[in-house]
Amino acid sequence: NDTATTEIYTLSLHDALPILQGLFIERSNKNMIQNLNEELFSFIKKSPTGFHAVHELANYLTEAGFERLAEGNTWNLAEGGKYFVTRNQSAIIAFKVSRKDYSGFHIAASHSDSPTLKIKESSEMNIENQYVKLNVEKYGGMLCAPWFDRPLSVAGRIIVKDGNRLTTKLINVDRDLLMIPNLAIHMNREVNDGYKYNIQKDMLPLYRMSNSGKAFKEMIAEEAGVSVDQIKGMDLFLYNRMEGTVWGCDGEFISAPRLDDLQCAFTSTMALLNSESDRCIPVVAVFDNEEVGSGTKQGAGSTFLYDILRRINRSLGRTEEEYLTSLASSFMVSADNGHAVHPNYADKTDPTNRTYLNGGLVIKHSANQKYTTDAVSAAVMRCLCERAGVPYQEFLNRSDILGGSTLGNISNAQVSLNTVDVGLPQLAMHSPYETAGSKDMAYLEKAFEEFFKSAIRAEGDGTLVLE
Ligand code: ZN
Repeated sequence: NDTATTEIYTLSLHDALPILQGLFIERSNKNMIQNLNEELFSFIKKSPTGFHAVHELANYLTEAGFERLAEGNTWNLAEGGKYFVTRNQSAIIAFKVSRKDYSGFHIAASHSDSPTLKIKESSEMNIENQYVKLNVEKYGGMLCAPWFDRPLSVAGRIIVKDGNRLTTKLINVDRDLLMIPNLAIHMNREVNDGYKYNIQKDMLPLYRMSNSGKAFKEMIAEEAGVSVDQIKGMDLFLYNRMEGTVWGCDGEFISAPRLDDLQCAFTSTMALLNSESDRCIPVVAVFDNEEVGSGTKQGAGSTFLYDILRRINRSLGRTEEEYLTSLASSFMVSADNGHAVHPNYADKTDPTNRTYLNGGLVIKHSANQKYTTDAVSAAVMRCLCERAGVPYQEFLNRSDILGGSTLGNISNAQVSLNTVDVGLPQLAMHSPYETAGSKDMAYLEKAFEEFFKSAIRAEGDGTLVLE
């Protein structure tokens, strides 16, 4: 209308500038958030399994000038160097050496694996000489229902024999290959009254007709460009083919497979690439097998982190005493997604500690120390968030709900240091298609960047100085 037009025309440049700047910042924030989510979806698409996730993270790091180390070689680290090392091709530790006299290690830990179905060694099952389905078993604790009636495929690794060499090859059959069809409502009228899923009976995916296609192993060999005889080992898993999407009236939400915990693995790696550290050694650790208890050589319960931290110290010519001194001034942020209040089940969340999508990262507490957070580590994390200008929320389970566990306390058995458990708020955890807020990942990245450029100095037992 006329009045509004006149008002705008009468604004002086002096008045208009802050408004324009505000609009610009809002626009660039929106672009930044959008780019981060798009990049996450592309990472998740290329990461159908933990093996692929670690491969992709290694690609990001290599592109940014990080040098790949091998556990089987002698290390000669130097000031200003950037490095990473993988174990079992499904766990990765990356770090930067800013200076030899570093204050401590600032570690962001997460996990590469997600609940899924694993293909059994001998997998083909012929049904009445008509269908061939695949025999699978459960990996981790998943929501079963959402695996039905959607295109699935197979990814993982195979071990190929060539002469006396055994080499690993990553496999991703990048097409709609399998489906687990539901039973029609007409054949089980009570299904909507609650159903107990039996993996062996209900969840075997249909692969081909008996008289068409190829035997499963033959198909995999062809994908890998090797002969069936050369395949001496397989770790192959099902994955959901659906890609990530931004949705909601104003794009408030994102959904994608494996948000738990690829969101945290991705975010911590991006923060490592984007942050300047000049006091601590920033470390990103992505472990495997969190969903099955972390008890493997590449899991958080292993000596992987312990080994790498000691080697960093030794390779920089530092003493055992200096290592232990720096551990006292070290800190771990164990990052694994948490639960937001569910719009249809709001009563499932603790009555006084409420977490919402887009409300910022979640600090997780548990009196039984299933989460490592205590008053000290929570205080450090809150101060880091406040310094970074990002919102945070507190998560506790209802006292009558058991809740899940994560990797922070397991890792502390190997390397004991001040640790806080955090995560991004999400819905439908352990579904093959999970939902989160579109803004939260940017908050977590800023918090990680702040963490990596800080120093947390211990003054005796009980006082920490944030520098
Ligand atoms: Zn997790």
